[in-house]
Amino acid sequence: MYDLIGVGIGPMNLGLSALAHPTPLRTLFFDESEQFSWHPGMMIKDSMMQTSFISDLVTLADPTSPFTYLNYLRSINRLHTFYFYEKLLISRQEYNAYLKWVSTQLDDLHFSTRVIDIQDTGDSYEVLVEEVATGKRTTYETRNVVLGTGSKPSIPESFDKGVIHNTQYVMEKESILQQDKVSIVGSGQSAAEIFLDLLTSDRKETFELEWISRSTIFETLETGKLGEEIFSPSYVRYFNSLPLAVRQEAVSKFARSQNGISPETLQAIYEHLYDLSNEEQNRVKIRANLEVDQISYDSDFTITMRHTELNDQRTSTTGAVVAATGFVPSLPRFINRLDIAFEEEQAWKVDANYRISRTVSANHHLYATTNLELSHGPAADNLGMSVSRNQLILNDVAGKELYPVEQHATFTTFD
Ligand SMILES: Cc1cc2nc3c(=O)[nH]c(=O)nc-3n(C[C@H](O)[C@H](O)[C@H](O)COP(=O)(O)OP(=O)(O)OC[C@H]3O[C@@H](n4cnc5c(N)ncnc54)[C@H](O)[C@@H]3O)c2cc1C
Repeated sequence: MYDLIGVGIGPMNLGLSALAHPTPLRTLFFDESEQFSWHPGMMIKDSMMQTSFISDLVTLADPTSPFTYLNYLRSINRLHTFYFYEKLLISRQEYNAYLKWVSTQLDDLHFSTRVIDIQDTGDSYEVLVEEVATGKRTTYETRNVVLGTGSKPSIPESFDKGVIHNTQYVMEKESILQQDKVSIVGSGQSAAEIFLDLLTSDRKETFELEWISRSTIFETLETGKLGEEIFSPSYVRYFNSLPLAVRQEAVSKFARSQNGISPETLQAIYEHLYDLSNEEQNRVKIRANLEVDQISYDSDFTITMRHTELNDQRTSTTGAVVAATGFVPSLPRFINRLDIAFEEEQAWKVDANYRISRTVSANHHLYATTNLELSHGPAADNLGMSVSRNQLILNDVAGKELYPVEQHATFTTFD
């Protein structure tokens, strides 16, 4: 009988495993991928984290843990160079290397294993796991389950299947650069990074680059000091206590804090655009106010768009399309059998300790580290917030405070 089984090993459940490591809790985590890998398609050279290295897997809960980013640096002999580097934001590649380093040290992590079912026995859960390579199935019994299945790419149905989602960008980059023209659809950080990467890559002289955005301006990510306090445990607690209608409205208000582009990426793009020759400028187009209705393929891609203000239709013919059109929560089908209480279609009712509410009462619990936007607000996906979330989950599972939770962590009073 385990205390906790985690479904999925992304950064959220990896952090949970790292924090559970020194505790008496018996834990197991499963992931269908062969080894730990964090958004490999977006490991663009020079791309940076949007959260400080202090929001590693453990520091905000336990700076003395052996799994801190600083301890990783010490293990690879880079602590002094990092000290002179004097930056809080590290590269995405370095963060990924750190995560991999942690993942090789935790023996409760199992890769190449897919969770295919979870049954409620009445006082525990039976978790059915399948080895991806052999199909061999094993059942594990646990008191609690943490669903950390993350998200999956979202591409509108009206886009041709040959459109590349940004999660595949690095793997497809070489073939993209062979085209005469490439179009990027979307106006968030991923679209901006890909635009910048193509702008600064070696490409043939005639290469045309087009960036299509629905919005009028390219919003900047919220980086203001007080504004960032919405990514704090205090705000998340307050948000979770609000009535559903208020939370629904708040979620749409926070789009900029979540989906904006970092000021550094926008600055770099502008500087590179400024340096282009007149002739090169003619081959680089940034097109705002265009809502893409359809993308079809017939030897080339045809993008059909509508101008959101002038309301007329435009088309663009292009060799490849990268859709940076976002993600949706990845919700395994087996959860439908677990009597989960939904607040709205696809949105779980989740309490302040990240327990998913169920329509039956039980002493064994399901927790979520994904699909939390409506219940926990704009910090749902934030890596810094995942640490305090994991503290709360472990304390709740243990029935005592394994990790003291910091109170009053903001200057702003929200309630
Ligand atoms: C390019 C990019 C950069 C980002 N940068 C930042 C940043 O700088 N700062 C920040 O705060 N946030 C950032 N985010 C947001 C967020 O931190 C990430 O999306 C993060 O990966 C979410 O982690 P996760 O553990 O919830 O899910 P994921 O990383 O999506 O992992 C989920 C895992 O579950 C596994 N899985 C799913 N179903 C099953 C199953 N049935 N059985 C077994 N395994 C299963 C999948 O294989 C996957 O490995 C970024 C997001 C992206 C896309």
